[in-house]
Amino acid sequence: MKSNPVDEARRTLEAERDRLRLELSEEVEHPKVAHGAQTAAATEVTESQRGQQMRERERLHLVQIEGALRRIDAGTFGICQDCGKPIAPERLEALPWATDCVDCHSKRRH
Ligand SMILES: [Zn+2]
Repeated sequence: MKSNPVDEARRTLEAERDRLRLELSEEVEHPKVAHGAQTAAATEVTESQRGQQMRERERLHLVQIEGALRRIDAGTFGICQDCGKPIAPERLEALPWATDCVDCHSKRRH
């Protein structure tokens, strides 16, 4: 029995969403972040900045994933938001949260 690719994408996205939510909630409970602590050692500042950048990336990624799940519910999943053409299945398999096709993506990059 071969399952529907959209169902598979949904499973991947839900697993990733749960993982990110867990990670982000764990970080929130982490008590070590001292805002505006000018006296903190340089290494500690770097560590906390790196942690913040990582959390920021994870938050953005979570937004992308939630958007993809909404598109699955709306029936527009796998459609390029720029040109309206279907996104290649290989791209969706690798990046189920992709909102643009390879063509539009590479155009935007250049
Ligand atoms: Zn496109």
